[in-house]
Amino acid sequence: MKRFLLALAALWALSGCQTLQQIDKGLYQVADVVSEEDRVTGQRSLSFAGRAEQIAKGNQYVEQILAKEKKEGRKVDAALNRPQYYRLVRVFDRIHTVSHLSNERWQPVLIDRDSFNAFTTGGTYIVVHLGLMEQLKNDDELAAVIGHEIAHTVANHVFERQSHAQVSAIAGSKSARKGAYQAAFTHESEREADRIGILYSALAGFDPLAASRIWARQYTLQGNARALFAHDHPVNAERQAETAKVGQAVKPYYAPGERNPQYASLLKNNVLWQQGESAQAGEGGGLQALLGTAFGAYVQHEQAKQEARRQQAHANFVKAIETRLKLEQSSAPDAKTLDTQWRYSDGPRLTQVVIGLLIQKGEKVLRAVAHVDGEVRAGSRFQARFTLPEGITAQELKSLEGRFYLDDALPVQ
Ligand SMILES: [Zn+2]
Repeated sequence: MKRFLLALAALWALSGCQTLQQIDKGLYQVADVVSEEDRVTGQRSLSFAGRAEQIAKGNQYVEQILAKEKKEGRKVDAALNRPQYYRLVRVFDRIHTVSHLSNERWQPVLIDRDSFNAFTTGGTYIVVHLGLMEQLKNDDELAAVIGHEIAHTVANHVFERQSHAQVSAIAGSKSARKGAYQAAFTHESEREADRIGILYSALAGFDPLAASRIWARQYTLQGNARALFAHDHPVNAERQAETAKVGQAVKPYYAPGERNPQYASLLKNNVLWQQGESAQAGEGGGLQALLGTAFGAYVQHEQAKQEARRQQAHANFVKAIETRLKLEQSSAPDAKTLDTQWRYSDGPRLTQVVIGLLIQKGEKVLRAVAHVDGEVRAGSRFQARFTLPEGITAQELKSLEGRFYLDDALPVQ
């Protein structure tokens, strides 16, 4: 933002004594300093680093990670897991070929972590945890994740955002605390990366509905954790609904296992966005470019603020409802199941109620959720059934510390 203000100051200095046409050219140059043509929509977005600089910086982060893995004796890529690495390369190549950055040489990196995670640092690598490869059911789902990660770099989301947090988490330095606003800003980036990534999937011949299936499964397993922590991604249920919508929209471009022969033109114009003709420098294009940048940044800022308010309001609603729920009884019909009965004292009629359970086992905190069927009225009782997480039995539960929480609930409109 600071550099953007500097550019405005430069513009002020320029505007003194020139003809309108010259000013417009000057404007265009200023706009080129602070922005680059958005590779997806043709609109301009704020960006300061040139692509070469982005690649150098982004790749440097990944090389740091690789050096650290080596130092600590962990294997990467084929040495870590040959079949999973070749599977990754195969799916990656198909997606990358139909992406907006197919002219660059990219490569995936497989690292030895058991978590469900993949990330990009804005250069020409994407880093994938082995745990993600093992948990994803099929190549369509893997394509959804890879498409999403490439899209973050294509849409220029990367620099101040996830890469720093991700890299510091892995490289071991302290990660910055995230405020609600920053989390909300990331929400918008996540939605955009989902949209672009799902289009890539369809164009490369992978099922564009696979992304929504991943989020459906995450919702079943984890709920939304609405009030548990600030979200830097859309919550699972929302993400499922949004990715399903996008998946349906781009489905006409998809033939299983086949690259769409029109993929190059579809990257520019498709059901999700149209790349408009932009005016040239000297014909009002300069002004348009600069206004586009300032306005785009303003709109993004406003959207992020709105999203932050919406998330906060919903989290507060969930916390308030939580105080009106009372656990009346619980029982374990078998070793892996916990049945609970609740009473909801007062408040609006609720739907999509999910109850969560946090269990402390040694160092680890394990989480289970129970999805409540149908609607819950004030003054009524309802049942919630938990399937206990891996490594915990109902018998053990009695001697462990646990806490129930309201994961999510929506008022019936
Ligand atoms: Zn993302």
